[in-house]
Amino acid sequence: MKIADVRVHTLRSELSTPFAFSQGWVKQRSATLVEVVTDAGLTGWGEAFAQGLEPPQIAAAAIQSALAPLVLGADPLDVEVLWHRMYHATRDYGRKGSVVAGISAIDIALWDLAGQIHGLPVHKLLGGAFRTQVQAYATGFYRIHGQGESARLADEARAHHAAGFRCMKVKLGYGVADDIAVMNAVASAVQGLGVTLMVDTNHAYGVGEAVRLGQAIEAHGLRWYEEPVAPEHLAGYREVRSRVRIPVAGGENEHTLYGFRDLLAAGAVDIAQPDIGSAGGFTACRHVIALAQAHGVQVNPHVWGSAIAQAASLQLMASVPVAHHSVFAEEPIFEFDRSSHPFRQHLVAEPVELHDGWIHIPTRPGLGVTVDRAVLERYRC
Ligand code: CA
Repeated sequence: MKIADVRVHTLRSELSTPFAFSQGWVKQRSATLVEVVTDAGLTGWGEAFAQGLEPPQIAAAAIQSALAPLVLGADPLDVEVLWHRMYHATRDYGRKGSVVAGISAIDIALWDLAGQIHGLPVHKLLGGAFRTQVQAYATGFYRIHGQGESARLADEARAHHAAGFRCMKVKLGYGVADDIAVMNAVASAVQGLGVTLMVDTNHAYGVGEAVRLGQAIEAHGLRWYEEPVAPEHLAGYREVRSRVRIPVAGGENEHTLYGFRDLLAAGAVDIAQPDIGSAGGFTACRHVIALAQAHGVQVNPHVWGSAIAQAASLQLMASVPVAHHSVFAEEPIFEFDRSSHPFRQHLVAEPVELHDGWIHIPTRPGLGVTVDRAVLERYRC
């Protein structure tokens, strides 16, 4: 079997209510999807990470101009060989960011194809499922006005709880005093309800503010403190980790075995968060999982993007071992962004379904998605 075509789809949808995270105002949803077609007529789907401020055309250009020519005509089952071919060929201008996101998209599509060829879900090809279902956590708590929204955010926490979520991640990074007020309001809104909270500043602060915030909220018993400082600032990560009694998480802006080697060797994180659409696909995440295991660091994948990225992330999460084995070990949890996202709800015939806050790992071949092409056309940009 040979790869006969690589097609790229860029999607865009305006948000009815723009919102802010610490790095800017998000006014639209976008996605870079890839479709790898074989000469036998099979189609594998993949997705390149595109966060709210990132034009989806960047990864699309990398795929079309640089990566597709490297895989056309190849055997789609040569996933490891093709990953290294793509990485080596783009090393001098890639290694991070949208080029690796493009590699990720093609790699995810190749694993989807491999699953279809073998008639197995991707997690079986990765060595099997450590779990058949995964608990979801609500990501939300974005700002609509900016600061001073703690009462509304406390209501949001109650709404996530009513929807079945027992884990929630609060977006912070809007000023330390405002962040502390928000955390106090959210924590008291869910007090006694058995809710676990995490926080994420999206690297809004330097070490001083990050430590001040962390120390002020550590009494809430948080599961993790995500991206406290800039992803390049490994010494800063280490300092926050030594001075704040909350496990430190990071890695959604890190890439490949090589990037995670530096993050882990620096002792920067307690929890590594590769994103399958950004870190280099299944192949790179498999490398990162082995490396993290050797460092005694738990992998808890970051999850973003459309229904394709969600489906790929579910397959990956089935295959993540716990780093610290015990009968009551903490299992990885699935990031479920609760903001409006049309490519998530309508793109595939099998959107992610929550059952009392839990998601079953799909067992259909490959990623197990059937893409609705009318939705591709509706949002094409
Ligand atoms: Ca994050």
